[in-house]
Amino acid sequence: MNKGPGGLEIKGFIETSFLDWDGKIVSTLYVAGCNFRCPFCHNAGLIERPHEYETIPLERIENYLLAHKDFIDGICLTGGEPCLHKGRGLFEFMKRVKDKGFEIKLDSNGTDPECLKTALDQKLADYFAMDIKGPLDERYDGLSGVKTDLAGIKESVKTIRESGVPHEFRTTVLPTLLGEEEIAAIAGYLAGAEKFVLQQFAPDHAWDEKLRSVKPYEKPELERLARVARTHVPNVLIRGV
Ligand code: SF4
Repeated sequence: MNKGPGGLEIKGFIETSFLDWDGKIVSTLYVAGCNFRCPFCHNAGLIERPHEYETIPLERIENYLLAHKDFIDGICLTGGEPCLHKGRGLFEFMKRVKDKGFEIKLDSNGTDPECLKTALDQKLADYFAMDIKGPLDERYDGLSGVKTDLAGIKESVKTIRESGVPHEFRTTVLPTLLGEEEIAAIAGYLAGAEKFVLQQFAPDHAWDEKLRSVKPYEKPELERLARVARTHVPNVLIRGV
């Protein structure tokens, strides 16, 4: 088994990405497993059947970074949910990457505020990107696919918003469950955040097969939702259209 120290399982490694961190060139690392089951997720295999994917040796990743230090700015840790690996070598790996002079963007679904606080306290994250699946009420579970601890999500929002670390919150705009009222509710909750990103829903390969025939919003509709959100968070972007 090619596991890293403590069992950090990286299952996907995009050596060079221009898309995963605005303005940066990064290597993107996908960890195994997630505690959500978002119906629109594209990584079902990585979450339900991680054993079917090779575990990338951490040495290979670190060697690649060092060999391309001239143009790689850092890494994007995504998944899956990276914080599920906090007891399995996540922070140790992040520290080694930081010690080599690279920056780190940490993606998270926000279910583990303590994980984010540790990354913050140890100065391991240079950018946080946290998913906000829907309004922070009874509607959340339909978008996360599980019974969600909203107190934990709220604590993560507070931690990131007050961190002083560059960050974004992002919502995949699933037309069947998210419209103007929901986007306004999310943005209202995020008031004071640095950036709020509306991500286009991509039906192909959605975990819930019923969603594969759902038509994404047209760009003008997303732009209208962005204008609604901007009444609460001035910096709203649309991604994926
Ligand atoms: S939080 Fe992300 S990785 Fe996890 S199920 Fe949802 S979309 Fe997929």
